[in-house]
Formats: sequence, structure tokens, C-alpha cells
Amino acid sequence: MAKANSDFLKLQTGYLFPEVAKRIRAWEEKHAGEKVKKLSIGNTTEALTPYISNAMINKINKLQNRNEYTGYGDEQGDESLRNALMMHYRKEYGVKLSADEFFVSDGAKSDAANIQEIFSKDSVVAIQDPAYPVYVDSNVAGGHSRNYNDRTSSYDGLIYLEGNAENRFVASVPCGHADLIYLCFPNNPTGAVATREELKDFIDYARREKAIIVFDAAYSDYIESKDIPHSIYEIEGAEEVAIEINSFSKNAGFTGVRLGWSVVPKTLRIENGDEATINRLWNRRECTFFNGASNIAQAGGLAALEEEGRKECLSLVNYYKENARIILSVIRNLGLVCYGGIDSPYVWTKCPDGLSSWEFFDLLLEKAHVAVTPGSGFGKAGEGYVRISSYGHREDVISALDSIKENF
Ligand code: PLP
Repeated sequence: MAKANSDFLKLQTGYLFPEVAKRIRAWEEKHAGEKVKKLSIGNTTEALTPYISNAMINKINKLQNRNEYTGYGDEQGDESLRNALMMHYRKEYGVKLSADEFFVSDGAKSDAANIQEIFSKDSVVAIQDPAYPVYVDSNVAGGHSRNYNDRTSSYDGLIYLEGNAENRFVASVPCGHADLIYLCFPNNPTGAVATREELKDFIDYARREKAIIVFDAAYSDYIESKDIPHSIYEIEGAEEVAIEINSFSKNAGFTGVRLGWSVVPKTLRIENGDEATINRLWNRRECTFFNGASNIAQAGGLAALEEEGRKECLSLVNYYKENARIILSVIRNLGLVCYGGIDSPYVWTKCPDGLSSWEFFDLLLEKAHVAVTPGSGFGKAGEGYVRISSYGHREDVISALDSIKENF
């Protein structure tokens, strides 16, 4: 008889977003005709920009013409886009990589979830807490943990790197040995960024322990603070120990278009292979399980890396960052303690009066009719915080904040 994958069976029910949606629905049913104001969305809301969307329209026009039509492309991504990514890293970060170290994908989520497949099952995995839930879930499903432990509210066998107010939500390197370490800066949900020195500590640790870092830089274009690295490869030695994942979702508004990339250097060190092994295995994995990103999306991505496209991306990012500035100022004026919101679209807010994440969520919903995201949904260390998101039309964000000001 067929059996379900026992590693998938270890996964706890995805509780956070369904539960947020359920409570919003219940509130709206009780208050007929009224709508909850959402500061809980991690999704972009503003329209695609003209230069980038025109590049996609041009691509569609070509696809309508049999002489210019193209079908399957390279699984690793169009050569022109891989070259443009390589040049982007050189120009903006001063980082030298080669085009065949870039793999174009349908977004950062898939890569963040799939990358663990090419590492040994017995890898010891360390993950930031709180964190984007994909890292924990994909490692559980991939067989890199033991069962969920109700007593500790965590999966046995995973190492959790706790972010808290004392360390400014930048966890220290693991105490013991880890083989794979997931880092995300600017961080979802805390909005924290890591300094050069903090990232250097992780690189030194990884070199010492012969570990690999998976660095999720999906929000790198939101960084405005000086001297904060945008790419892990700005740190010396990172090309020996780090894979970087990034996306066009949060800067070009491609959350629905779908496009991202991963950098898998040919200089990564592992125990049972030469330096190019991980690059080769990822290439093999992509060629086997993935048929390449949409050619229309790739035309958009290429335009997004050109001068005009970069300007459009940065102005889109600035729109959300202005929302974040408004949120920060209103929430601080109310006397609440918050973090992030400067190099990130997320404002990580401490619940007042010792309330739990869900208690504060319910209070804001009942009193101000506003939804935020309970921090505890991102991991145990997120308890006592909520994530306030700047993704939304300006007028909606302001209306939600006015309601908090009036009713809180
Ligand atoms: N990485 C982080 C940290 C995210 O917060 C998100 C989306 O919210 C993603 C990756 C997903 O990116 P993509 O839309 O490219 O799959």
C-alpha cells in the first residue's frame, strides 16, 4: 500500500495566515457592511511600472509572431538575464561572480524551499527565530529535523537562532556545529539588518565549521542605512560558504508575475565533493525538476536591471518605504516600542502591557478594526510582537493608522 512521506507528516498545520483570515472573516460577519483595515499584508499592491511592463508587452508581441516565437528556454534562465544579473552585482555591490553562478527561478520562495534538497539528509540545520516560515517547513519536509515537540514548541533536531531586543534581532552564530544556516536580511518579519561585522561572524563561523549559509536577500533594495551590505558576497570569503537568494517580487512588484534568482558559486566548499559540486548539483536539480521561468517574466526582469528599470524599482520601493516611515512615526507617537521599518517594509512592534501576539491582534481588531500579523506565527521568539506591513495603498495605510490613533 502506498504511504505518505513521513517527513511531510511531521509538518504542523499552517496556522498563521489562515487563522488571521478566519478572525478577519468572523469580525466582518459580525459587523455587516464594514471592512477590516489591513496592515497585515506581505503582498505588493502598486501597479507594475511602465518601462518594465512595456518590456513584457513587447515580449508578448514577439511570441505572437511565428518568426520570433520561442518556447522552452534554458532551465537556468536566459543567458541575457544571467549576464545582466552578473553585471548588476558588479556595478551595484562591487562583487565579481560569473554568469553560470546565477540561476533564474520563478521566485525566491521556491529556491528557499528547494535548496535543502541538494544537501545531505543528516545536515544539521540552523534557522533564525523568528523567520519567514518556509525555511523551517521545507527543512522539516525535506527530512532534516525530527518530530515537532509540543513541550518546546519547536522541531527537535533544528537549531533555532533567537533574535530578540537585546541582539537587535540579529542572532549570534550557533553555539555548536551546524551544516546549513539560513539567514534573511533585511529580515522578514523583524525588519532587522545585519552589519558587515555581524555577517563576517557568520562567514567566519561557516568557514570554521565547513558550513553553508543560505542568505535570503529578497528585501535588499529596501536598505538605505550606510555600510549595511546588500549582498552577502560583499563580505570577504562569502563565495566559499554562501548561497544567495533574491527576487523581483518586492522591488519590481513581481509577486504575481513571478521571477527570482539564486547565486550558487562554483567556489563553495563541501566535505564530499570538489568546489563546483554544489553548483553542479543545483544545475542538475533545476534541469530535472524545473523548466525555466516564464520568458515574459524574464523579459521584465531584464528591463528591471536596466537603468530606467532600476529607477522604477527604486521608486516603487520608496513608495512602500514612505508608508513604513508613516507607520513608524504614528506607532512610536502612541508610545509603542518598535523596530525595523527603515531598511525594510516591516515594522516589528512590541505588544503593550505584556499582551501576547494574538491578544494584541484581537485588541487592534476589536478596537480599531485593523489587522496586523501576530509575531508568534513566525516562531516562538516572535511571541509578544506583531508585524505591521507597509504593503498597501497609501490612503488605506493612513486610514488604518487614523483608526488606531482614534481608538487605541
Ligand atoms: N523571502 C522572504 C524573506 C519573503 O518575505 C518572501 C515573501 O514574502 C519571499 C522570499 C518570497 O519571494 P518570492 O515572491 O520571490 O517567491
